[in-house]
Amino acid sequence: MSETASVGCPECDLLGEVPSLVPGQRARCARCGYVLAVCYDDPYARAWSFSVAALVVLAIAFSFPFLSIAAAGVTNSMTLVQTVLYLSQYGADGIAVLVSIFVILVPVLMLVFIIALATALRADRFHPLLMAPTRWLFHLNGWAMVEVFAIGVIVSLVKLAAMARVSLGPSFWAYLAFTGLFLLAFSSMDRLTVWRDIERITTKTRPESGKG
Ligand SMILES: [Zn+2]
Repeated sequence: MSETASVGCPECDLLGEVPSLVPGQRARCARCGYVLAVCYDDPYARAWSFSVAALVVLAIAFSFPFLSIAAAGVTNSMTLVQTVLYLSQYGADGIAVLVSIFVILVPVLMLVFIIALATALRADRFHPLLMAPTRWLFHLNGWAMVEVFAIGVIVSLVKLAAMARVSLGPSFWAYLAFTGLFLLAFSSMDRLTVWRDIERITTKTRPESGKG
């Protein structure tokens, strides 16, 4: 028996039917090829591990120098937090706030949601309090800009390298690792699989079965 779900393609709006997938399979949009659903082996253990690892490397990124710039005999080094603070110091308060929200706060919030959701779903449980974070997780995805920040920093460094000697600190590499782990963690939480599992668990526990 295979249940199918109607899924609208986020890229081209074509409505497609996605059957139940087995690990290793992915369903693509018939028109544009966008991946509508993907099935991993033990996706929640995978998502949980990548999320925890991402938070650990982010803690490392906060603890060491991000980069140092040497020009005309003067060396300046800055941490990840200082890269945001300097924006504010040079009058770009709005950009500093946006960078803190979209580059640090939103991704961290998403990772916390993934850890909570993956822990529950892997144990075949779901608490109604998780409903809002689950919706937010998929809404917030468009607002997490970790990879945009990482690419922006790399492009700036290429330009700066022509004017000054730039040395990359451990925090820079940790942030790059954070970017990769964050993307892997989120991509492990396939939207369709998550909602199918929530529906299955809530339908199963709906009949009165005492306290749970
Ligand atoms: Zn499409």
